[in-house]
Amino acid sequence: MTLKKPDSAPSPERSRVMRAVRSVDTRPEMIVRRLLHAMGYRYRLHRRDLPGAPDIVFPGRRRKLIFVHGCFWHGHDCARGARMPAANADYWRSKIARNIARDADHLAALRQAGWQALVIWECQLKVRDRPALTALLRAFLEDAAPPGAIPPAGET
Ligand SMILES: [Zn+2]
Repeated sequence: MTLKKPDSAPSPERSRVMRAVRSVDTRPEMIVRRLLHAMGYRYRLHRRDLPGAPDIVFPGRRRKLIFVHGCFWHGHDCARGARMPAANADYWRSKIARNIARDADHLAALRQAGWQALVIWECQLKVRDRPALTALLRAFLEDAAPPGAIPPAGET
């Protein structure tokens, strides 16, 4: 019997399948990542040591991070977020209420730790809104206290 080393590099095919199965590279997040990359920004992904495992992290001097939230799962106050499945509506409502509470806890904890956080919603990712999104991201990353950002509790 041969034991496979658990840390051996997966085959390209297996990597592709794992990427498809894992939820981290969701399409809304990829839109934001590609846009940031095209704007010349470099970042870290999914810092699991931070509250909420933020999708996109700018460590160091900037100390900023971005969550890309699906409107339904995170209970956005928009048409898409208001859509509720007809079946098990109560189940989904309470589940999403828990998600909203957890997101708020994460943002508060990050703020306590001196991070500025920006939440980008799925409904902000329409192609026709791309210039506005680009401007929002640039303002967040370049300005000291951009609109929509959660200011840090104290500068370090
Ligand atoms: Zn929305």
